[in-house]
Amino acid sequence: MLADKITKYLEGEHHYSSDVLQSSCEQFGGSLARQLMGESQYEPRLRMSNLGACPRKVWLQIAGEKGEPINARTRMNFSFGDYVEVATVAIIRLMAEKEEYGIKIYEELVQGELEWEGIKGHADLPCSIDGQDVVVEVKSMSNYGFREFCKNGPGDMWGYPAQLQAYLRATGFETGLWLGVRKETGHYADYVELRDDEKYVPEAAHNMRKVASPDKPGKPSWATLTGEQTIKDVRCQYCDMKRPCWGPMTVEVIKNKPHYKVG
Ligand code: SF4
Repeated sequence: MLADKITKYLEGEHHYSSDVLQSSCEQFGGSLARQLMGESQYEPRLRMSNLGACPRKVWLQIAGEKGEPINARTRMNFSFGDYVEVATVAIIRLMAEKEEYGIKIYEELVQGELEWEGIKGHADLPCSIDGQDVVVEVKSMSNYGFREFCKNGPGDMWGYPAQLQAYLRATGFETGLWLGVRKETGHYADYVELRDDEKYVPEAAHNMRKVASPDKPGKPSWATLTGEQTIKDVRCQYCDMKRPCWGPMTVEVIKNKPHYKVG
């Protein structure tokens, strides 16, 4: 749907007299500032973007728990991902200036904050493509992540579907479109996700209740220890709340990968 259009656009030559490039420069700057300042610039709260995240993590953030500092490599890795996403949104905006691509961006939805059930959020690009209203969400991915995305879509592990479903409810649109970008190679692929209230409304309500509760939520079902008491789940391994959540731990690096042992 969109990946093919972007590929076609990128294979052409274009001359710009557009303010899209100017605003993209500001977004690159904003993105760099965001990465350098980390979470400190935000007041932690439940937003559409973390609606599907581990509720215990969101609860700890709101309770004022400071996560572990991000190392330089991870910070730059996140920054690259951000830049690729900003560049992709800019490309779609430039395409929207040419009638042949059939894209109309709903600026009032892009610029304003969305709201659903008192939760706010900001979607990447609510727009119309070939006459169909869609909320486009751009995600930069590693080689591995992109291969998985091409086979199965974004998956549920990082809570992305809950985020997109919240945007769909807030906009009233029926169709979401994930646009995956492979960071290393510049390949694009897309994946359509339809609004599904039956599946996601109860899940979102469950998370909202947990985050709003005065009691710390228990560890989610997937966060279990097995075997030698090593944290197995990838979500916990990447979480900056590992230590406040699991307590003291030792780290052993095996084949360039950290293994976290608790207890
Ligand atoms: S370490 Fe795991 S269970 Fe704990 S807050 Fe992070 S994701 Fe949730």
